[in-house]
Amino acid sequence: MREAVRIRDLAAESGEQRQGFLTIGETVAGPVQIPLVIINGRADGPVLCLTAGVHATEYAPIDAVMRLVQSTCAETLAGALVAVPVANMRMFEARSPFVSPLDGLNLNKLGPCPADGSISQILARVLLEDVICAADYHIDLHAGDLGEMLLPFAGYALTGNAEQDEVGEYLARLYTPRLISLSTPSGTVPPFPDGLSYAASHRGVVSVFGESGGNGTLDPADVQIHMDGVRNVMRYLKMIEGGVEEPGARLAARDRVVVRASRAGLLRLHVAIGDEIRAGQHVADICNVFGDVIERVAAPGEGIAGLVWSHKVVNTGDPIVRYWITEPA
Ligand SMILES: [Zn+2]
Repeated sequence: MREAVRIRDLAAESGEQRQGFLTIGETVAGPVQIPLVIINGRADGPVLCLTAGVHATEYAPIDAVMRLVQSTCAETLAGALVAVPVANMRMFEARSPFVSPLDGLNLNKLGPCPADGSISQILARVLLEDVICAADYHIDLHAGDLGEMLLPFAGYALTGNAEQDEVGEYLARLYTPRLISLSTPSGTVPPFPDGLSYAASHRGVVSVFGESGGNGTLDPADVQIHMDGVRNVMRYLKMIEGGVEEPGARLAARDRVVVRASRAGLLRLHVAIGDEIRAGQHVADICNVFGDVIERVAAPGEGIAGLVWSHKVVNTGDPIVRYWITEPA
């Protein structure tokens, strides 16, 4: 029999599943809470924490965590699953992208949070210190946010601890079908130092940053990528039965480049996520209100389209496509 898994005032004994809310503060309208599920297996094994809804209009990861919680059984699980389906409930209810409607902060760009911070900083501290750091492994599930169409990838923040980093990189490879992003403190690819996954890994929790989905959609194929990734990690960690799907060839991100509009107008886009882009490739046209093409936008280098913005009207400086510069991994 395993010991109980307890996070604040929610506890699950061995063989039990418990769900409830952690209250972290309040507004005049009521408590600010984090929904939490603890599934504590009968057999020994690691504790895996899943968090979704750090950006709460990223629906594919939220749905994936809900489905994973529903399909995981405490009787047959080895170790424990700790899951937060929606980290930021006030963004979720308001359908608010990127930042909390309570204090305007982005929960994944807060860095180390002071004990006397605002409500998003309190939320980030509780998530990191009380929830994620109670686990051995962590996956932070994301997607492109509203207005962002995104190529799935999985990231891991390298810590310099060779043993941990080897596992972290492997979990990222198990998670994603194609592209991994291994970050360093001074690098230009995610997970970035101001985010939760980076902070977790640097506290000794092996934390993967998994992205699939985007633009406010809930596409079953995007949900499936997250679910396949989590289950593959769980099989590798021997938490659930079944063979690990060994990762085949992967691409590793070296850098990423945003192609922006110089001129303003209607955007006619000629690339989609996942497209291989050649240097000088004509990726979009911008036309003025009379239909005259006033800019032919070219990519400065080669790469893979990783993020395409959904806006159809651009102003000077607006992003059009962000492409990954990759190498075989
Ligand atoms: Zn996100």
